[in-house]
Parts: sequence; structure tokens; C-alpha cells
Amino acid sequence: MRYSGLQVLWQGLTGNKGWAPVWREPEPKPEYDIIIIGGGGHGLATAYYLAREHGLTNVAVLEKGYLGGGNVGRNTTIVRANYVLPGNSEFYSHSMKLWEGLEADLNYNIMHSQRGIVNLFHSDGQRDAYARRGNAMINQGDDAILLDREGCRKMLPYLDYEQTRFPIYGGLYHPRGGTARHDAVTWGFARGADQRGVDLIQNCEVTGIDIENGVVRGVQTSRGAIRAKKVGIVVAGRSSQVAAMAGMRLPVESHVLQAFVTEGLKPVIDTVVTYGMGHFYISQSDKGGLVFGGDLDGYSSYAARGNLSMAEHVIEAGMTLMPMIGKARMLRSWGGIVDMSADGSPIIDKTHIDGLYFNGGWCYGGFKATPASGHCFAHLMATDRPHNAATRHRLDRFTTGRRLLDEEAAGSQHNLH
Ligand SMILES: Cc1cc2nc3c(=O)[nH]c(=O)nc-3n(C[C@H](O)[C@H](O)[C@H](O)COP(=O)(O)OP(=O)(O)OC[C@H]3O[C@@H](n4cnc5c(N)ncnc54)[C@H](O)[C@@H]3O)c2cc1C
Repeated sequence: MRYSGLQVLWQGLTGNKGWAPVWREPEPKPEYDIIIIGGGGHGLATAYYLAREHGLTNVAVLEKGYLGGGNVGRNTTIVRANYVLPGNSEFYSHSMKLWEGLEADLNYNIMHSQRGIVNLFHSDGQRDAYARRGNAMINQGDDAILLDREGCRKMLPYLDYEQTRFPIYGGLYHPRGGTARHDAVTWGFARGADQRGVDLIQNCEVTGIDIENGVVRGVQTSRGAIRAKKVGIVVAGRSSQVAAMAGMRLPVESHVLQAFVTEGLKPVIDTVVTYGMGHFYISQSDKGGLVFGGDLDGYSSYAARGNLSMAEHVIEAGMTLMPMIGKARMLRSWGGIVDMSADGSPIIDKTHIDGLYFNGGWCYGGFKATPASGHCFAHLMATDRPHNAATRHRLDRFTTGRRLLDEEAAGSQHNLH
């Protein structure tokens, strides 16, 4: 069923009885050409592009819970292309271009809103770093405007410009950045993959990976064994556990990242704002809730819930930056398990096992990568060659030392994330 304004009108007039289910609930087949482990944003996008770009439809996505129950449904929905380092810069730029055509491509309203992002800076040194970042973004073909303090004040009048500890010097404005509705992105990719014949199998946990003589043969699951010629691991926070099923040890640690939302308010924040000193960022959802977050909880964990000490830290940073937030009542907080790579950049690569591919290490920023991650991983799995936009996201960089430094140039000191 194609969605359109006319369809909505017609269904409204006829009691909304004609909507078809958005995807099927198939039983797993005994064998597929390709199995994707993980029905998050990246796994579903991979399946979608395998079918759409490469005509590969004998594909299954195996999800241990429900589609979108992982980080793709837990993130703070920020989409941006403001990376600085070669490798990341072109990759996130590619992703932004895919985002910009995604609603038409998927025939699905993912509520992509290019409302702009302002990254605030609070010292001369930080201003220089942001100027350099802005130049890299412009060189890459993306957009960036360096705002001084008055420029920021005009755009974001509600911030506390007089705070003595971290005064606001200005901000780097990225107009094409913004947000997208995370659940809708999941459902849009799921629907697109299902329509092209991909089997989306929920409540199907992969418990083992079958390998014979260095070649992948399939997987063991909570619903029985399934054979496959190729298997892609796309499980975000569970990357180390699933890769261990193939005997691999990854340069990835799992950490909890929390997010928070207030009660719905009238429109007050019309961009995304990040606090360069306090590690706090905020936007307002289309329902009116102020959605915000901050740092990792700071220790490895597989529990998708956070702790009060980090909640206090994030809220304190919010109060410092915009004291008005103290009047809003917080409704909910939650946590997700993020797959932190040792250099802060992702991995999209083949493994040393024939037919086994790995996609992960998205850290706290993989939502914005969803379309490009799926697009590039599908290209790799279909052709066995890396996509031009993802040539540097290789596993062997951790042994050769040719690393991609992370977006904050914190390098391999992942404890600085
Ligand atoms: C609080 C929070 C805020 C964030 N904010 C942002 C943001 O604003 N912008 C941004 O770009 N990024 C953000 N991120 C990061 C982003 O959400 C993730 O990097 C991205 O969603 C990870 O990819 P995914 O969607 O495929 O992961 P997931 O949705 O976690 O998908 C992985 C799936 O694999 C499944 N799985 C695991 N093990 C198995 C198994 N053995 N068998 C079968 N299935 C399995 C899981 O159940 C899960 O559904 C945030 C993350 C969190 C937690």
C-alpha cells in the first residue's frame, strides 16, 4: 500500500478499516542468502538497501526482541553532518544526503526536521577548533556558520550568557542539521525491506554462529538453526557478545547512555543546542517535550538503564546553561547500551571469517548514520568491496594504528568520551 494524502483522506472517510499491516510476521525459512543479526535502525537499513540497490531479497533480519526496541528507539534523534576528520567527514555527509531524500524514498513520514544545530563554544581555543571544524564541513560540501556571542544571543535568547564559569563566546551553526522521528525511521526501513521481500523475524535471538573451515554457514537461534551464505552482525551495544560467538574480540566496549524528556511545553527551543563545556544537549520534540542528554554513565554495562549520579550531572549542566529549564517537569529518563569503539569511529568491514561481516562501534552517534550505515554495509555485503564513503572504517586500523580520531579529537583515549 502506498501512503499519500488522498489515502489518508479516503481511510478517514471510510472508518480507517483499509490499512494493511506495515510488515508481515513470517516464520523463519531453513536457509537464506543473507542473514542480518539485529533489527535496529542499521540492520533494517542494510536489509532495505540490499533489496533496493542490489536486488537481494532472500534476506532475513533476525531480532531478539521487537523491531526498534534497541538504541534506535532510545536515542535523542539528532541528525547532523558536522564531522571533521577525513573518513568520517565524507561518510556523514553521504548520510545527510540520504536523509534529505529518505521520506520520498521510503514513502514514509519520518518527520525529518532540518531545524539547525548550534554547538556552543566557551573559550578562544574552542572557537578556533570550531572554526576549523566549520571549514572542514564547508570543504566537504556541507554547511556551517560561525556565530559570535551576539549572533547566538539573537538566535538563542534563553541561554545564560552571563555565567562566570563557562561564558558563551559563540557557536557553530549547522543549518542542515536537526532531528528525525526515531521510531518512524525504524518503521519506514522495516516497511520498505518487507515490501521488497525481506523476512523480518522478531523474537528470534541468535545464540551461535556456525563456522566451518573459516567459512560462515549460518546461525543458531532461539527458533532453531538457519543456514546462510553471508551473515552480517549489526547489534550495536551487543556487538562484543555476538562477535564472541564467532571467536572474535572487538575493540569495542558497551556503556550506558541516558536521555531525558520533560512534559510537553509550548514551542520554546526551535533548534538543537549543545553545550560545549558541560556535555549537555537539548532539542524540543514535535510533541513539545524538551529532550536532552549528556555524558555516558562511565562504566561498562549491558543494563539498558542509567544511574542517578549521571542524571544529576546532566540536569546540573542544563540548569547552568539555561536556568529556565528548572521550571519544566521531567517526565521520563531511560538508557541505551552504546557500542563505544576505541577511537570513537565506527567499523563497517568484513571479518577474517569468510562470509561474516561486522557493522558497529557507533558510540553515542549512530542514529544520524542510519541511512549511510545501511547503504554502505549493504554495498559491502553485496559486492565484497567497501563503498566509497566508508573506505576507512576498517577493523584492521586497530592493529595497524591507522586510526580515525573521533569527532572531539580525543583519539584513542576513549575514557574521554
Ligand atoms: C540515550 C541515547 C541517545 C542517543 N542519541 C543519539 C543522537 O541524538 N544522535 C545520534 O546520531 N545517535 C544517538 N544515539 C546513538 C544511536 O542510537 C545508536 O548509535 C544507533 O541507534 C545504533 O544502531 P542500531 O539502531 O542498529 O542499534 P539498535 O537499535 O540497538 O539495534 C541493535 C539490535 O540488535 C538486537 N540484538 C542484539 N543481540 C542480538 C542477538 N543475539 N540476536 C538478535 N538480535 C540481537 C537488539 O535487540 C537491537 O534491536 C543515542 C543512543 C542512546 C542510547
